[in-house]
Amino acid sequence: MSSLRFKAVEEAHKKKAIPVEVPTKRPSEYFGCMVFNRQTMAEYLSKEVLSAVQDAVDNEVALDRKVADDVAAGMKRWAIEKGATHYTHWFQPLTDGTAEKHDSFIDYVGGPSETIIETFPGKLLAQQEPDASSFPSGGIRSTFEARGYTAWDPSSPAFIYDDTLVIPTIFISYTGESLDLKAPLLKALHAVNAAATEVCQYFDPKVKRVTSYLGWEQEYFLVDEGLYATRPDLALTGRTLIGHESAKNQQLEDHYFGAVPTRVVAYMKDLEFVAYKYGIPLKTRHNEVAPNQFELAPLHGEANLSNDQNLLIMSLMKKVARRHGFRLLLHEKPYAGINGSGKHNNWSLGTDTGVGLLTPGKTPAENLQFITFLANTLMAVYKHNGLLRASIMTANNAHRLGANEAPPSIISAFLGSHISDVLDKIEASTSEEAIVMHDKKILKLDIPHIPEVLLDNTDRNRTSPFAFTGNRFELRGVGASANCASALIVLNSIVAAQLKEFKQEVDEKIAQGISKEKAIFEVIKSYIKISKPIRFDGNGYSENWKDEALKRGLDCEANIPEIYKRYTSPESIEMFKSVGVLSEKELHARNEVKWDIYAKKIQIEARVLGDLCMNHIIPVVTKYQSQLLDNVVKIYQVYPAKQAEKISAMNKALIEEISERISTIKDQVDGMIKARKAANKFETEYEKAKAYQNTVFPYLDAIRYEVDKLELIVDNEIWTLPKYRELLFIR
Ligand code: ADP
Ligand code: MG
Repeated sequence: MSSLRFKAVEEAHKKKAIPVEVPTKRPSEYFGCMVFNRQTMAEYLSKEVLSAVQDAVDNEVALDRKVADDVAAGMKRWAIEKGATHYTHWFQPLTDGTAEKHDSFIDYVGGPSETIIETFPGKLLAQQEPDASSFPSGGIRSTFEARGYTAWDPSSPAFIYDDTLVIPTIFISYTGESLDLKAPLLKALHAVNAAATEVCQYFDPKVKRVTSYLGWEQEYFLVDEGLYATRPDLALTGRTLIGHESAKNQQLEDHYFGAVPTRVVAYMKDLEFVAYKYGIPLKTRHNEVAPNQFELAPLHGEANLSNDQNLLIMSLMKKVARRHGFRLLLHEKPYAGINGSGKHNNWSLGTDTGVGLLTPGKTPAENLQFITFLANTLMAVYKHNGLLRASIMTANNAHRLGANEAPPSIISAFLGSHISDVLDKIEASTSEEAIVMHDKKILKLDIPHIPEVLLDNTDRNRTSPFAFTGNRFELRGVGASANCASALIVLNSIVAAQLKEFKQEVDEKIAQGISKEKAIFEVIKSYIKISKPIRFDGNGYSENWKDEALKRGLDCEANIPEIYKRYTSPESIEMFKSVGVLSEKELHARNEVKWDIYAKKIQIEARVLGDLCMNHIIPVVTKYQSQLLDNVVKIYQVYPAKQAEKISAMNKALIEEISERISTIKDQVDGMIKARKAANKFETEYEKAKAYQNTVFPYLDAIRYEVDKLELIVDNEIWTLPKYRELLFIR
C-alpha cells in the first residue's frame, strides 16, 4: 500500500481554510506602507533631494552622488524604523525571476574595533558588485573577467521584504552591456517615449512625454503542499511529467463559473492584503478554466514599475501559498490535457496630457491620432511578428502555445469589426475624400465615428494572440512564469522604431509641400495596406490557419531554438540599433543564454523522468505483476488446466501487457540517456539546444504514454504518485 500518497491525500482532504487576519485599516490607508514611494520620500527627504529624484524619474535626468547619499540616508532611516537590518540590490537576470544578495547595514566605526554602526552610504545605494560570475551572460563576461555590477533604478521605488530593504536595480557588465531584462526595458521605454512624443506633437504640441503602460493578468495553479511533496516531477520541473488525465477535468467548465474554494479564498484575501502593503493595486481575482487554476490582475501602471510589481507578486504568491498549505505553480503547463497558465500583457501608450493613444477620441483630429498609433502598432507587429513570437517562446511556454488552447502561437492581430471597418474605409478612400479643411482651418475628417467605449464583450475575441480591447492591445502569449520585460522590450522597441520611421516619412511629405493632415493620412493609408496580413479576425480559417498564415508571410517557425534566431536577423539587429535598446553583441550573447536555458530545462526533465521510471514506476508495476503471477499460479493449483486457462486469461493478458510496457519504458529511458550524452557533446549552445529538442525531447512524450497506460491498469492501492484527480480536485 502506498502509504505516503494516501496519507497526503487524507491530510489534504482534512485541511480547512487558514483564518486570515483582516487589517483594521482600509486598503487606501495602508496601501504602499512597505514602499519608499513619493509620499514616504516626502517625509524622509529634503525638498531639494525629493525634487532631484522626481526630476530623475519624470525627466530622465541623471542623479549625482551627493543626491544618492542623501536619498540613501533617508531610505536607511525609514528602513530601520520599519525593522530592516539588511539591504539588497534586486535584479532581473536572464534566467527569469529575480536575484538578490543581502548585506547587513553594519560596519565598524573607523577601522576594526568592537563598536559597529548601521550605515548605508550613497555609493552602496547607487552601485554594487554582486558576486555575479554565476549568472548567465552568454559569454560577454566570462567568469575570470571583470564582474558586472548592479545600479539603482530610481524609477522603481525600494521596498522592505522581511528584514531587508530591497533596491530595484539594473545589471550590466563593466563594458556597459546589459546582463539583465530591466536595463533594455528601460531603454525601450525611453525609446518609445521619445518617438511617440514626437509623433504626438503633430497633433498637440503640449505633449512632452508618453508613458508605456502595462496591465498584467497572472494565471496560476495551486496544489496542496503534501501532494506536491510526493511528486518529484512537480517539485523539480514545475510540471507533471507523467499522470493520466482525470476522468473529469475541465469539460463541464464548472470551475470557471463556480465559487472559489474556501482555502483558496483565504489565500487570495491574504495575498491581497500583502500586495496592498507593497503598493500593488490588485483589482480582480477569480477562478480560471482548469480545475485548481486561478487568476489575479492589478490596475495597470507604468510598464517598468508594473513589471517589477509582477515579479514581486510572483514571489509573494509563493510565500503566501506556503502559509495556506499550498504550493504555487507558475509553470505554463503543469498538467497535460487541461489549460495551461499565461500572463496576458495589456499594453497601451498615454501622454502626460492625459490622452490614451490607443483610445478612440471624441473629435476627428483625436481619431486621426488614434488611427495613427493603431496603424503604426499594426505595422510594427506585422514587420516583426517573428521576433515578437521569439520574445515569448520558452521551453515551458511551448507546451501551451500551439497546443489546443488559446492563444495560437502564430502572431496575428484582432481588431473587432468596428475598427476593421474604419481601416478598410481609410484604405479605400483618397485623402481628398477623407480630409477636408474648412475655411477656419478646421479639419473635417471623413472617418466613420468610432464609439469611445469599445469594451463591448460581444465583439471580443478571447483567443487572438494580439487583440485590441477598446483602449489597449492585449498580448496573450506571454507565459505565466515569464518576466514580462522580455515581451515588452520587443513590443516597445518595434513600436518606437516604427514611429520614428513614420515621422520621417510624414516629414518628407510635408517638406514637399503636402499638408500635415494629408501627409499623415497618406502614410497611414499605406501602412494599413501593407500590414493587412497581420489582421485576423478569427473567421474562416479555423482548420487551416497555418496554411493561410504561411501564405500571408507570417512567421510560423515552431522550432524553439530556431525561433530565437529572429533576434539576430539583419532586420532585428537594425531595429534594436535604431532605437538604442540592444547591440548586436548583446543580442548574440542573449541568444546563447536562451539556448543554454532551453537545453538545461529539457535535460532536467529527462533526468527526472528517467528516475521516476526506474525508481517509482517500474518497481511498483513489477510488484503488481508479481501479485498477478501469484494469482495465476494459484488458479492453476486449484482448477483443472482447461478451466484455469479460462479463469486466468485476463490476468495473463495484464501480465503480458505490463512486461511489454516495462521493456519499452526501459528501452526508451536507455535511448534517452544516450541521446542526452550525444547532445551534451555539441560545442555550441545552439547545436546543443537543437539536439535536445530533436533527439531528447521526443522521448518525454513517448515514455509518458507508456507510463500513463500502466497507471490505468495497476492496482490503485499500490500506485505511489498522486493522480491527476487528486492533484486537481483537492483544495
Ligand atoms: P479581461 O479578462 O477582460 O481581459 P481583466 O480585468 O482580467 O479583463 O484584465 C484587464 C487588464 O487590463 C488589467 O490588468 C488592467 O490593469 C489592464 N488595463 C486596463 N486598461 C489598460 C490600459 N489602458 N493599458 C494597459 N493595461 C490596461
Ligand atoms: Mg484579458
